[in-house]
Amino acid sequence: MSSQDALKPRRRSTVSVDVGGVLVGSAHPVVVQSMTNTDTADADATAIQVARLAHAGSQLVRVTVNTEEAAAAVPEMMDKLRNNLGVDVPVIGDFHYNGHKLLVEYPAMATALAKYRINPGNVGAKRHDEHFATIVRVAIDNDKPVRIGVNWGSLDQQLLTELMNANAAAAEPRDSRDVMIEAMIESAMRSAELAEQTGLGHDRIIISAKVSQVRDLVDVYRLLAARSDYPLHLGLTEAGMGDKGIVASTAGLAILLNEGIGDTIRVSLTPGPGAAREREVEIAQQVLQSMGLRSFIPQVSACPGCGRTTSTFFQEMAQQIQQHLKDRMPAWQATHPGVEEMRVAVMGCVVNGPGESKHADIGISLPGTFEDPVAPVFIDGRLDRTLRGEGLVAEFIDILEDYVDRRYPAARAEVAAG
Ligand code: SF4
Repeated sequence: MSSQDALKPRRRSTVSVDVGGVLVGSAHPVVVQSMTNTDTADADATAIQVARLAHAGSQLVRVTVNTEEAAAAVPEMMDKLRNNLGVDVPVIGDFHYNGHKLLVEYPAMATALAKYRINPGNVGAKRHDEHFATIVRVAIDNDKPVRIGVNWGSLDQQLLTELMNANAAAAEPRDSRDVMIEAMIESAMRSAELAEQTGLGHDRIIISAKVSQVRDLVDVYRLLAARSDYPLHLGLTEAGMGDKGIVASTAGLAILLNEGIGDTIRVSLTPGPGAAREREVEIAQQVLQSMGLRSFIPQVSACPGCGRTTSTFFQEMAQQIQQHLKDRMPAWQATHPGVEEMRVAVMGCVVNGPGESKHADIGISLPGTFEDPVAPVFIDGRLDRTLRGEGLVAEFIDILEDYVDRRYPAARAEVAAG
């Protein structure tokens, strides 16, 4: 095995599942997904939020289907999404407690959704298997895949009790955390088995087992990946708000993705009041791009600045360029294929500036304090020109636009397609 092969992430799922045209698992790129927080009974608000998440890059969007009103609104919401907003993203229904009733009583809703999420801990204790099988039969009849989504916070209590009792009777009882983890995996595996016994295809099942602590997540998913070849939906549940949610999600996802574990990801951030829901999509994309697994937007390498950059000019320039790339990306996506892989450097002084800029596709090294007030621009590793004076940011952005036109021409895609 070459050192390059050793560094390549391993893909443990060998099965791919078609979710409304988006392929999850096997060698397919890791899929980004998200979930709405609107009341699904409000078809307008939900369609608009689904569209926003899709425009941000969410390839699958999940909506809760928790009431009869929500179930009844799904076909209308889908119609608005498809016909008024022109968005074709597959929409997944999230079911708890009453999924077996809603999916049977609202067949248009069952048809409109691309996949059903079933939580085996929330299908009813008394008639658990019967309710679970009812949902699976609706999935079979409508040719839909399911996600068996186990969650730490709603674990099948009957199964947990069974395993806890067996552990208590064992000669050497294990830690209760280990039994909890085993219960999560058992719940997922037994449910998948029941789904297949009911007639659902092996390639119609995605598994998740979410917890809220990073190390638990890593342990659970390593075991899950070793136990099965189903595609895995990866994410920390209840990741939390702000920096904590982002860092915890990234830490957990990064460890597992680096081991080739995870076929679709969701970053479950709690948005601040009034904050955009799309943030969770941006973070998920950034995790994948930072790990070199996918490319979504040109990346800016910027140094942190130090005592050599005493003005805020350097920070402002880095921010303006980052924003320019973000603003231009929707148009570039259509006109300049491949631009999402471009690397841009914005550096604060001569110490690392020229070196980092040479490593990027295009870079600028600003003058630090006490340096000559000139800013060399590097393109494809070579000094291209030197900028100075007022208007430096606008000039660099013009050079950047010109570089994108030359390096990622639209014709390249047409030639490749032909
Ligand atoms: S490149 Fe220069 S300004 Fe930036 S952190 Fe390094 S020494 Fe400081």
